[in-house]
Amino acid sequence: MIYLDHNATTPVDPRVFEAMKPYLTEKYGNPSSIYRAGQDVRKAVEDARDLVAALLGATSREVYFTSGGTESDNTAIKGIALNRGSGHVITSAIEHPAVLEAVKWLEKRGFTATYVGVDSDGLVDPREVRDAVRDDTILISIMHANNEVGTIQPIEEIAAIAREKGVPFHTDAVQTAGKLGIDVDAMGIDLLSLSAHKFYGPKGVGALYVRKGTRFDPCVHGGHQERGVRGGTENVAGIVGLGKAAEIAAAEMDEERVRVGRLRDRLERGLAERITDLEFNGHREKRMYNTASVIVKYVEGEAMLLNLDYHGIAASSGSACTSGSLDPSHVLLAMGLPAPTAHGSLRFSLGRGTTEDDIDKVIEVLPPIVEKLRAMSAFTGDTAVEGGAHGDE
Ligand SMILES: *Cc1c(COP(=O)(O)O)cnc(C)c1O
Repeated sequence: MIYLDHNATTPVDPRVFEAMKPYLTEKYGNPSSIYRAGQDVRKAVEDARDLVAALLGATSREVYFTSGGTESDNTAIKGIALNRGSGHVITSAIEHPAVLEAVKWLEKRGFTATYVGVDSDGLVDPREVRDAVRDDTILISIMHANNEVGTIQPIEEIAAIAREKGVPFHTDAVQTAGKLGIDVDAMGIDLLSLSAHKFYGPKGVGALYVRKGTRFDPCVHGGHQERGVRGGTENVAGIVGLGKAAEIAAAEMDEERVRVGRLRDRLERGLAERITDLEFNGHREKRMYNTASVIVKYVEGEAMLLNLDYHGIAASSGSACTSGSLDPSHVLLAMGLPAPTAHGSLRFSLGRGTTEDDIDKVIEVLPPIVEKLRAMSAFTGDTAVEGGAHGDE
């Protein structure tokens, strides 16, 4: 299989798996136990916390382990909201559902929210965020890089506005943690979500960074684990895996960025040369080096995906969470694409295992697929042109 869906999830790095193994077998103590078998495991959890903190330029006491990106986003948003009791939240229209749905849930409970829009490159305008701030604003949450189109938001500028207004700033950095250098102090971030499985760690574990002194309430009540912020016996093997993934990412990030960036550019060039009526989504410079989001006009994304799958190529149309539904991506719609056009989107997200041969195979295989599908749709009249079969959506 040629796997080009790293924004949906990544394979566990073999070095991560090796680090985790003992904690699934002989090192099974409960980190809360006072005897040695427990304390050895406690040390492994705290070592992992140090590694995650180092990845973010944070202190270890500011890092809380969670079950992943979704829980981190929910804890950040609801944790602040529950602490304040009422107020207004600012977020963007292109956030991951983990943020959007958490904010909508708050709206049903009396909180208010502003969803700032984006331009055609998928960029949030910091001035719009500034204009949205009210006296009762309790939180600003804007993602670092978008999972679908890769656009990187000006979060330093937004964080500076939040700081000036005395409002905590949260960022969903699930797509950037372990891929881009992050320094929570230099960037002015107060809360940050990350997830291990997006950077070669295991699924079901993540972390939430919360700046020291930020008032927030726990969302998972139980034991005193994670200093009372997140009750429940720790996912020790997962946490150790997250720590190892963070350590590897910190060491290899710079090299990987250059290597994968070249491959992504090769892919985009190759497709642009061979496919007519092809457009790229996302800001041309301010975007993730591993993501290529394309619109192939007059063809359904799902049809291309199935054909690619037949050739052993795994990619995505829209986000993984919404695939299976026929709704066009909320991100592309927010960027101003008409629904029928958004239906023709394909996302290739490259990663650590991607090779030049993988890319060349896609460049070879996709153009004839597009040609075939365009010929078929012209024949049946079932095209996805604007005002066509999907014009009323
Ligand atoms: C994958 C993803 C999440 C959810 O993370 P999980 O660990 O799968 O819950 C949240 N935000 C973004 C931007 C993501 O890409």
